[in-house]
Amino acid sequence: MELDAGVKTDRGRRRPNNEDAFFADSRNGIFVIADGMGGHQAGEVASRIAVETIRGHLLGNKDSLDLGTLREAVERANRNILDRSRDNAALDHMGTTVVVATVRNRRLLLAHVGDSRAYRLTDNGLQQLTDDHSLVFQWLKAGRISEEEARHHPQRAGLLRALGMEPKVEIDLREEAYGGEWLLLCTDGLTDMLRDGEIENVLNAGGDPQQLCELLVARANEAGGRDNITVMLVRGRR
Ligand code: CA
Repeated sequence: MELDAGVKTDRGRRRPNNEDAFFADSRNGIFVIADGMGGHQAGEVASRIAVETIRGHLLGNKDSLDLGTLREAVERANRNILDRSRDNAALDHMGTTVVVATVRNRRLLLAHVGDSRAYRLTDNGLQQLTDDHSLVFQWLKAGRISEEEARHHPQRAGLLRALGMEPKVEIDLREEAYGGEWLLLCTDGLTDMLRDGEIENVLNAGGDPQQLCELLVARANEAGGRDNITVMLVRGRR
């Protein structure tokens, strides 16, 4: 299946710099986004190391991609971030989320850590394929708080897992059949600003992937743009 992809990243309206990073390669079916954190631009360094390391590992193994390859790529990114922060005090405590998606032979492979998300659009609406690794998401799943409360919770940015924190990182891995439907990867700068239903309406209205990425970023900025926003859309070529 040939793929079409679009991507847009934006600083948003409040943050002085953009700590998100991404890589998209529709020919090889490899897609990565990362949302860095840490003071003094350390977050930018962490998200770039993650994307570059994963890109290199997956392209180097592109003829034999499986969930093990994705896990190795993310583990290697985690080690590289830790090594770099040990070498440079200014980069101490930097970290990043990551979502990795590969599409081959109608199979979708996903690896993720943190609160950046992957979704797909099904006949029943937008389906979130990743669990956020945050306490707020756990409370939401357990029914202790509502979706609206989760969206505005003061602790919603607090992560239970990220790359660059510990030598060993727990990685969520998932494999799904893929029929060419819309696949969305995004950082929380999109999902904190727009509800799933609003995102779904934009996708259902149709358009090419790049236009729709730009439209979603514009909507997130209109809603306040409190954080960096990265949106990547993939679908099977029609
Ligand atoms: Ca963010």
